[in-house]
Amino acid sequence: MKCILCEGEIDKKYNDDGVMYWDQGENAQPIADGQCCLKCNNHVVIPGRVVQFTVLNKISKLKERVKELSKGLTRTEPKHRNKRRNVALLKDVIDLEEKYLDKKIQLIALSSRDDAEVDLKTVL
Ligand SMILES: [Zn+2]
Repeated sequence: MKCILCEGEIDKKYNDDGVMYWDQGENAQPIADGQCCLKCNNHVVIPGRVVQFTVLNKISKLKERVKELSKGLTRTEPKHRNKRRNVALLKDVIDLEEKYLDKKIQLIALSSRDDAEVDLKTVL
């Protein structure tokens, strides 16, 4: 079985008695749909999951803040003008975070390609 990321052979796992018990690799999500080798899992998929978790957690907090700020907010009340702007800006930040998350995942996926020269430190 081939790794979906590096196209290398997927590692076989053996128990203490030397009996092979797993040769289906690791789940490559969120980097790719399919299975990957242990090396790609450790160097690409896990960092991808950390970035995904961190950004989704941040987005979740921003959405909670938007929900709080939107309580009792009217579209026309002049006193609410700055609050409305705050909500609109936070929604823009959420949209950008979601868009950048996708790009960050794509960059991390590229880091598994030898010819791409992606420095993961710039993504993480
Ligand atoms: Zn691999």
